[in-house]
Amino acid sequence: MMAFPIPPNEHQRLAALHRLKILNTECTPEFDAVVNMAIAMFDAPIALISFVDRNAQWFKAKQGIELASTKRSDAFCSHTIMQEGVLVVEDATKDQRFCNNDLVTAAPHIRFYAGIPVSSDGETHVATLCVIDTKPRTFSDEQQRMLIELRNIVAGLIQAHAIANEAKSSERNARQRRKLLSQVERMSKIGAWSLDTQRLVTEWSPQVYVIHEYDGTEPPSLEQAISFYPEHERGRLTQKINMCIEYGVPYEIECDFITAKGNQRRVRSSGEIEHGEDGTKFLIGIVKDITEQSQQEEKLWRAAHLDSLTGIANRHSFHAEMQERIRARKCDSTELALLMIDLDDFKDINDSLGHVAGDVVLRTVAERISETISHNAFCARLGGDEFAVVLSSTPGRGAADEIGAKLLEEINRPIRFDRHDIRVGASIGIAVSTSGSEDDLFVRSDLALYHVKQNGRGAAVTYTPDITVAFEAKKRAVLMIKSAISDGRLEPHYQPIIDLKSQKLRGVEALVRVRNTDGTLSGPSDFWPALGEPQCSREIDEVMLELALRDFSLWKLCGLGIEFVSVNASTSCIRSSSYADRVLSKLDEYGLDPSELKIEVVESVFLGSESNDVRAVLERLSAEGVRIALDDFGTGYASLSHLRDYPINCIKIDKSFVSGLGQNGSNTAIVQALIGLGRSMKLEVITEGIETQGQLDFVSALGSDFGQGYLLARPMDAQALAQYATASPLPHQARDERALTANA
Ligand code: C2E
Ligand code: CA
Ligand code: CA
Repeated sequence: MMAFPIPPNEHQRLAALHRLKILNTECTPEFDAVVNMAIAMFDAPIALISFVDRNAQWFKAKQGIELASTKRSDAFCSHTIMQEGVLVVEDATKDQRFCNNDLVTAAPHIRFYAGIPVSSDGETHVATLCVIDTKPRTFSDEQQRMLIELRNIVAGLIQAHAIANEAKSSERNARQRRKLLSQVERMSKIGAWSLDTQRLVTEWSPQVYVIHEYDGTEPPSLEQAISFYPEHERGRLTQKINMCIEYGVPYEIECDFITAKGNQRRVRSSGEIEHGEDGTKFLIGIVKDITEQSQQEEKLWRAAHLDSLTGIANRHSFHAEMQERIRARKCDSTELALLMIDLDDFKDINDSLGHVAGDVVLRTVAERISETISHNAFCARLGGDEFAVVLSSTPGRGAADEIGAKLLEEINRPIRFDRHDIRVGASIGIAVSTSGSEDDLFVRSDLALYHVKQNGRGAAVTYTPDITVAFEAKKRAVLMIKSAISDGRLEPHYQPIIDLKSQKLRGVEALVRVRNTDGTLSGPSDFWPALGEPQCSREIDEVMLELALRDFSLWKLCGLGIEFVSVNASTSCIRSSSYADRVLSKLDEYGLDPSELKIEVVESVFLGSESNDVRAVLERLSAEGVRIALDDFGTGYASLSHLRDYPINCIKIDKSFVSGLGQNGSNTAIVQALIGLGRSMKLEVITEGIETQGQLDFVSALGSDFGQGYLLARPMDAQALAQYATASPLPHQARDERALTANA
């Protein structure tokens, strides 16, 4: 194969050629006209316009030859494109480069060739124009000039072809872009619009019609377009549009929006100024339907910030609000009040009426709290049945107390549910501070709340330092008891209970004492708060029951003749449903008869929602023969009906009534009435706190069955009690006898 020369810019040359997209295109009359002119002008049999491709030359126009193309290696034109001017080969048979060329040695038997390169851009030789003869010829300068002229026409035609090509492709591109744009519009729910600011004519893309649900064929006027926005949005929007038209300030705005069909949507709209070629000022912009997105965002926002059940703020938002208010407070001198609200016995509502009722209660309470608090307060549900309110106010106004009281009143109002009037109570702890941190406020309001819960609930209490003192005291007391229990330093002391008729020792009451590590003894007054702590008092009672039964069984073995031992049972103890079983199994363990045990309970066990469980426990114990005494009788709130409704065998008249006997008229009347009541209901009556002979005589005369008090005997340890019980006569009898002899 014969080689052909390659121009130094071959790469760009081929790229330019291919960009023309002219190879293998149909014949065109303009190009044909040029070759015809060449034939005529140069009186040659063959003329060609040849495009020189990578491996071939291809004829865009030809005359006098059948071939549509030849190998590039055969092409004379391969050489022509290597130079700027005209390549003239007068006799190919005499030219080293062409004498063996197939087109020379065979048909069409070229002898003469004159060709000139044609460029598409003035420098890149993509084609040639040539005339060929089968006889040797010469080619004058004049003829060369004419060939150059013709070449310029061909170059012009190529450029025209390129421009036409470009126009075609840009039209196609524009069409494609329009299609893509409309797809983008549809998928992203974005529409484009423009407004001719002078003529006030609007133009809408199809998606704008869709967003507006607008059936019209022409876009509406600006005024009409604005009327799609609800009244509250119009002012904002027109202001933005005016600013944009007048001062060129671009805008972006999110608004509610009502479609032509009356559907509520939300859109984001933007606008900016664009000047047309003729100087017309256009306001152009896009509008995007963001209804779903904003609904989604709102959903997410609600999930993050609001409590899903009640719709008020959640713990997270409350925390943020507190932070914000504490920051703001640093700048002014407002007072922050934190109210912690906890529903009383909410669990019972859930348990007895079901979760649906519980939910109704929580929602109603949330509603009432929101309605009660003022506009400068913020409320949240922190979780479960716990709510909180934060309030900023001017110091010293006492606003928090008032709100607390009002909230209690509102929450206490009956809540209607499924033919029930549910009553729910609440306890509120309040902390007020002008300087404390968020944590301080939380700790203090929690302490205040705890304080309310411990003291009967159903109240609003503002934190004072006393509450911390009480809390610390309770902590110390609880610790003292816990360590005493774990070290085995809990020690029952026994106070004799004397039969006032026979003067005999009939029973003993076990009273808790702690043997301190230094050997001294502490009584309930030293750890009083621990007895008020449910768990702790329950633990005390368990240990005391065990020790009292153990001591009693020993006395019984020794034949001391004590008929019963009395133990105190705290409210939390009695409320535990397994209490009866534990007591009975302990009696069994020590081989004691249930009638040898008396359990002293206080009136408050009958109060509250767990009174049914209490009844079951007491009934079980009573049915087995355990005796039940109502302690501190007369001091509590329980109604007399409890004496009838619960299995009570015995009342213990509180020592507070006994102390004033003889001197205090009302106390005398009360004791008289209480003893009378007990007797008439066939209950055993024990009078406590007998300290003087006068008191003893008095209660004996009124018919109290038993007496208990320092006059008769103080509480003593088990060993002392054993000695006491075996003394004959009993110490108090001896004293009585001494007194009698002294008097005689
Ligand atoms: P309580 O059950 O009313 O016990 C009687 C209290 O009165 C005892 O006080 C006793 O020492 C005291 N006392 C007896 N006679 C007189 C008297 O003539 N004058 C005066 N001023 N006081 C007298 P103590 O042992 O300090 O117990 C106080 C309270 O502690 C008891 O009152 C009871 O409520 C509670 N407590 C004592 N032991 C226990 C226990 O084991 N469990 C529970 N849950 N509470 C207990
Ligand atoms: Ca007692
Ligand atoms: Ca008592």
